Amino acid sequence: MEENEKLRREEKMLRLLCDTSSSAFIYYNFREDRVDTLGNWEHYFDFSISAMDDLNILYDRVEEQYKIPLKEGLFIEKQWRDRDSFEIKLKECRLCIEVEVNVVYDSEGKPTDKIIRFKDVTKLTSQKDELTYMAYYDMLTGLYNRNYFVRLLGEFLRRAEKETKKVAVMFMDFDDFRRVNDGMGIIAGDELVQLFGQYLSGLMSDYVVISHFSTDIYCIAIYDPCGARSVDTIYKVIRERLKKPFKMTDGQEVTMTVSVGVSEYPEASSGTLELINCAEIVMFKAKSRGKDKIQYFDGTILEEFLQTASIQNMLKEVVFEQNFTMYFQPQYYAKDGKFRGVEALIRWRDNKGVMISPAVFIPIAEKNGTIVPIGNWVIEKSVQTYAQWRDKYHYPLILSLNVSAVQCKKRGFIDCLLQILEKYDVSPDEIEIEVTETILIDDFDYISERLGELKKTGVRISLDDFGTGFSSLSYLKGLPIDTLKIDKTFVDTLLTDKNTKIITESIIYMVKRLGYETIAEGVETKEQFQYLKELECDMIQGYYMGRPMPAQGIADILEKLTEKVG
Ligand code: C2E
Ligand code: CA
Ligand code: CA
Repeated sequence: MEENEKLRREEKMLRLLCDTSSSAFIYYNFREDRVDTLGNWEHYFDFSISAMDDLNILYDRVEEQYKIPLKEGLFIEKQWRDRDSFEIKLKECRLCIEVEVNVVYDSEGKPTDKIIRFKDVTKLTSQKDELTYMAYYDMLTGLYNRNYFVRLLGEFLRRAEKETKKVAVMFMDFDDFRRVNDGMGIIAGDELVQLFGQYLSGLMSDYVVISHFSTDIYCIAIYDPCGARSVDTIYKVIRERLKKPFKMTDGQEVTMTVSVGVSEYPEASSGTLELINCAEIVMFKAKSRGKDKIQYFDGTILEEFLQTASIQNMLKEVVFEQNFTMYFQPQYYAKDGKFRGVEALIRWRDNKGVMISPAVFIPIAEKNGTIVPIGNWVIEKSVQTYAQWRDKYHYPLILSLNVSAVQCKKRGFIDCLLQILEKYDVSPDEIEIEVTETILIDDFDYISERLGELKKTGVRISLDDFGTGFSSLSYLKGLPIDTLKIDKTFVDTLLTDKNTKIITESIIYMVKRLGYETIAEGVETKEQFQYLKELECDMIQGYYMGRPMPAQGIADILEKLTEKVG
């Protein structure tokens, strides 16, 4: 009696467990050949079964790829491992079902009972799909993500090697993306990235894979680029799209351009990452050429890049007093040949004794910020040298110092300069600061104001390299400058090119009317000197009169001059 009661209780408990479970069960008793269904059967199936053979209905309803495991699970009495399970999907039904099979064997190894459990894992699977999606795709644009792109490019390369084909990589970056991010906010920036990404996804094919690489960078890999999938064609198509503005959700319209770098397997490299790197490097070249351009890889660009990188590293280790020295180039008045002053020019000898041109390293130092300490050193060293000449020779000179835009814009620059002048007891009107017109590009009014402040202290201001930048004569009138330096490129062709002649003549004429002095640089011949003198250019600097030289060279000139005077 007690035994019966216990059995009933257990049976009831079992039934409750099954009925409240979200799973469905099939219980099969081998000896009696009896099938029972339990649990939440209706959730899974719209048919019922009374014999094992009825399960063929289920077999017919699953999608093709699940038929084999299901058949094994339902009908084949193989030696089931503990809790063996597999997943199935029914046709025309979004359910994803995990099937778990358990078989109980007797002491002789014969199966006695079998329980098949069906569990709804649809939700779990969609989460898993999402993870897979995230592993391959970029959430914002729906394009491939960087990691997956690298893998696909690797596959392209392996195939190209077998089939002796080419693979092109286009590295594409929005121009002035910061303008959007800063001006309209990062949400707008994201929207733009997304809109363009969606457009690009339409260009994908078996041969063209496109990825959103990072912020505003997209990378395209093309297998066997030719015809409709040649780099040129794809670039043209993209530029055509970019001619039209992007319409943002807030109603604003934004027009963008891109800079593109292109590298090709096998020319540029046979390594996946290297190929992408090469394309990135030449993309920067496209940027520096004025943006909205495409640049194809060539060896010299890579070399230039490597040189820049090596100079950057060397700059980190440079010991100013040991590696740098100041040279000075004399400037003369054209009219009477009187010594007017010197331009201080930095020289860098690396640890192996090799000279590195300031034309090469100054732009690099400007980019990585080292120009600030270097510039301060230049000022201090030059002013100190200048003070020594003055104390010794008492000859009135003007010391011209090249000051980079980065340094000049830095807060505290004027104070720092004045402090150094005070330290060596040099008056501001003995100093001239040379700035290039590029300094004015970003913020004309602000810079103009700063230069005005500087001029008020008595320091003279000279506009260097005039004629090489945007060179609009109209902005000159508002500028607080004293001197205008006519660039060497004008002087070079002054006597051979009619147009240069006309332009130079007009510049000198106009600049004098505005009340500024003119100085011509890079004067190499007597003829150039004579002609400039005729045009009433005020001052002359160049190899013809004197090359840049160490401080002692200037001391020697002063020695002679004061000898004559004395
Ligand atoms: P820059 O300011 O235009 O300097 C004039 C350059 O022309 C100097 O080159 C000078 O040596 C060279 N030069 C002068 N006369 C002649 C000539 O008759 N023929 C030829 N072919 N060249 C002539 P350098 O010294 O190599 O300097 C190159 C540039 O590097 C300078 O151009 C300037 O922009 C920058 N730089 C030099 N020193 C400094 C410095 O101390 N600070 C900063 N910020 N920039 C500097
Ligand atoms: Ca200069
Ligand atoms: Ca110059």
